[in-house]
Amino acid sequence: MKQRIIIGNWKMNKTATETIRLVTELKALLSGKQEIEVAVAPPFVSLQPAEIAAQGTPIKIAAQDVFHEDSGAFTGEISPPMLVDVGCTYVIVGHSERRQHFGETNLIVNKKVKAAIDNGLKPILCVGETETEREQKKTFDVVESQLREGLRGVNDAEAEDLVVAYEPVWAIGTGDTASPGTAEEVNGFIFEKLSAIFRRDVAHKIRIVYGGSVTPENIKDLMAQPHIDGALVGGASLDPKSFSQIIHFKE
Ligand code: PEP
Repeated sequence: MKQRIIIGNWKMNKTATETIRLVTELKALLSGKQEIEVAVAPPFVSLQPAEIAAQGTPIKIAAQDVFHEDSGAFTGEISPPMLVDVGCTYVIVGHSERRQHFGETNLIVNKKVKAAIDNGLKPILCVGETETEREQKKTFDVVESQLREGLRGVNDAEAEDLVVAYEPVWAIGTGDTASPGTAEEVNGFIFEKLSAIFRRDVAHKIRIVYGGSVTPENIKDLMAQPHIDGALVGGASLDPKSFSQIIHFKE
């Protein structure tokens, strides 16, 4: 049985000082053994402070993005070895905000996925349709091409450590969460596509999470769905109390 995972994506929020405070508060609220894997994704400059603050706890560190080269003349970029060096376990790749505002295509996302894997980072690949694409009934086509193109060249052994996040763009930061049924339908579709791309036993190991306005109020119903293996949480992960309530959704 795969361990479920809840990841907090802090986006461009929290200074390094605020990051240390937030991780420290979260640590206190999460004391004891966690059945669910927990990761936080602060901005680049706060990754190392977060890692140091989280030491001695099971909280893992994720980056929000990565460049696909290891080093070189790429002003402003951050490479996979740099992320590994500051203690990252995971890296979010292909978040819709990067696709929308920074022109990331499936080809770029694929380069990042492969570079992350080559350096021992576990990619959290984000996929999901816009509101217009949903209205035009293109959800499954969009998600399928994001998966197929984003994962091109990834082999079965490498795929086991993947996390795929279904994040409908219309649900991100809007308060308009996908219903558990809608999220389950797409997560189930993602599982079937992963089973076609990789061996079925490998697809069973890949965690498929949901993201988009997850809160302490809606997490339980989402997590009750058979193909929802966790959550990628934006806004609600910035407050240690609400994030810990999401992690402790069973209680
Ligand atoms: C996200 O940024 O990945 C996200 C899901 O944000 P929010 O929870 O705020 O909708």
